[in-house]
This record gives sequence, structure tokens and C-alpha cells, in this order.
Amino acid sequence: MSIPFIDLKTQYRQIEDQIKHNIDAVLERGAYIMGPEIGELESKLAEYAGVDHAVSCSSGTDALLMALMALGVGPGDAIFTTPFTFIATAEVVALLGATPVFVDIDPVTFNIDPDDLRRKIRFVKENRKDLTAKGVIAVDIFGQPADYDAIEPLAHNSGLFLVVDAAQSFGATCQGRSVCSLGDLACTSFFPAKPLGCYGDGGMVFAHNEALHKLLISIRVHGMGEHKYDNDRLGLTARMDSMQAAVLLAKFEIFPGEIEKRQEVAARYAALLSEVDGLTPPSVPEGNVSVWAQYCVLARDTEQRTEVMGRLAEASIPSVIYYPKPLHLQKAFADLGYKPGDFPVSEDTASRIFALPMHPYLTAEAQEAIVKVIKG
Ligand SMILES: *Cc1c(COP(=O)(O)O)cnc(C)c1O
Repeated sequence: MSIPFIDLKTQYRQIEDQIKHNIDAVLERGAYIMGPEIGELESKLAEYAGVDHAVSCSSGTDALLMALMALGVGPGDAIFTTPFTFIATAEVVALLGATPVFVDIDPVTFNIDPDDLRRKIRFVKENRKDLTAKGVIAVDIFGQPADYDAIEPLAHNSGLFLVVDAAQSFGATCQGRSVCSLGDLACTSFFPAKPLGCYGDGGMVFAHNEALHKLLISIRVHGMGEHKYDNDRLGLTARMDSMQAAVLLAKFEIFPGEIEKRQEVAARYAALLSEVDGLTPPSVPEGNVSVWAQYCVLARDTEQRTEVMGRLAEASIPSVIYYPKPLHLQKAFADLGYKPGDFPVSEDTASRIFALPMHPYLTAEAQEAIVKVIKG
């Protein structure tokens, strides 16, 4: 039995006719840039997310970049975020000349720790006269919502904006609210491996506010104004291709069903793994729904992780470490001056975590085979 880490081929078989039909329509019409598929996708996904506006774009990274540009982030601004995430989250902050200020994570959800966030905001306000505390980027790591009931009031009562990095969590809900409806702006990614992926790069920004929506549309295409060749500000070339929107429209039809299937797969893993000594399966707080972008397990220590991942590799079962090195220890952020020990929970998590195959089409039989190998 060959077990893929993410099974996009089986998914393609479910919707092959619709995908081909949608792509063919783009080819026949010839509107490769900003074709009607773009507006259709934006209104469908805005409605699903429960917001007034959605702006599609070229990637999750560009969605974050556009969001920060619309919120006026620049040099001298402190943006609080987690070091236990994909580089893009903090990269866009630094690209705009602003300063990422890292905050440690919760040891159970691996998301930003609201208590440490409160401490770091206070520290910057009291001790860093060179910085203006400007915003928070919360990440829903592995598809699980951050603690928005604590983070949203904390950010707003401190005068900071909140951006939701929902690159891994489109479709997830926090106490009944869609994660893409939270914060001042929410950003997602349609990279193929994300829960809702296209066949290339793509992203989206979700907004409630009409003024921010207008800014995002301008920033997406060279800061354009009312007329196509008016340039009101500097912007990007960050459009989504019509072809990718066509793919997403087909995939979105089965997406709610896939989220259901992911819950079944996660529940089966949790039951099977509960019998394994030293491993802690992930848990989701009551009232939240994860979309399980990754199924990440904590080993007792690095040795156990190495041993289990070695056994899986021998059996040709893929497993991956997300993320082996927290951002504060990356060379790209060396100039921020952090050192090992600064974020103990992030560092401990990085030393013990690993991800097992996870996708909606993973069978009970395959999961039993995986856990059998893990048990040794
Ligand atoms: C994937 C990802 C991004 C970036 O999305 P791309 O579409 O790959 O640019 C940003 N943040 C997080 C947390 C991600 O997982």
C-alpha cells in the first residue's frame, strides 16, 4: 500500500469533469487575467467566510503583504506574531521595513499565547521608544484557530490591528465564527497543499471594511486609481489567474464535504494513537473546528521522534517536521537579535513535533497500517 502525505490525485478523480469543463471555459473565452471566474470565486468565498468582501490574489504571501500595505505598515512599526509558523508570516513584515516582535506559543494548540502577547505588547510600549506597537498577526497553525476570544479584545484594547493568517485554516471556525471573518483582515493561501488548494499559487484577503477593500483592489494592481492608468500609490502585480479561479470553483463544490471527512480522519488517528506510549496527538478546544491542514503529533523527545520517523521512512510512509527551526533562530532574522532560549515553548515544540499523512481520502485501513508501524 502506497500512502501519499496529501492525496491530490484521488481528489482530482472526484471532480475531473468539472475541472476540465471550467478550464476549458477559460480557454474558450480567453480572459486569462481578471476573467469572470475571479468575481464569481470572490463572492462565493466571501459568502462562505461570512464577510462582505474578498480580494483574490497571487499567493498567501501576497495576501499578507497586501493586507499589511492596506493597513499602512512601514518602518518603525512593531508587528507581534508567532515564531512557530511558515516564514511568510514574518517575512512580509520585514519586507515592508517593519519589525517582527515574536511571542511564544501555547504548548497545546501551538498558536500564539495570549498571556505572552500581553507581556510583549506592554514591553514594546514601555521600553522600545524606537518602535510603534501597530498590529498583531495571529496564525491558525495546522488549520486550528488561534485563541481569538482572548486575542481580538487584547489587540483592539491596545490600539493594535489584528490580521488573521488563515493560510492553513480556510474553513475552520472559532466558537462558531469562520476564522476568515475575524480580525481587521484575514488572509488565506490556495497553495496546492493547503486544505483548499488550486493547481499553482493563489491567495485571498477577506475584509468587512469597504475602505480597506478599495485599498486592497488598488494595491493588487500597481496602486491603480479610478482609471486603469491612474496610479494613486505604489502597489504590486498580485492578481490571481482566471485559470486558478476556475480550478478553485470546481474544488470549492466538494470542500465542505472534505472538511467533514478530515474530522473523521483526525478522530480515527486520535483513537489509534491513544494507545501509543510517549506520543501526544493534537487536540482542539471545545467549540472550535480545525481543518487539519496538518496532523501533527508530539513525541516524548527528539530521540523518540527520530526513531518513529525512521520506522515510517523504512515502511515508505511519509512524515514531515513542521517546523524544525522557529523563525527567531532563522538566519534571515539574525538582525533581530534573538537567541536560543528566547521562546522555550516554540523551541521545545520544534524539537519534538512531526506530521503524519493527512487528507480527506485517507482510509481507516491506511491509518491502521501507519499506527502499526509507529508502534514498532
Ligand atoms: C503557506 C503559508 C503562507 C504563505 O502562503 P503561499 O501561498 O505559499 O504564499 C503564509 N502563512 C502560513 C502560516 C502558511 O502556512
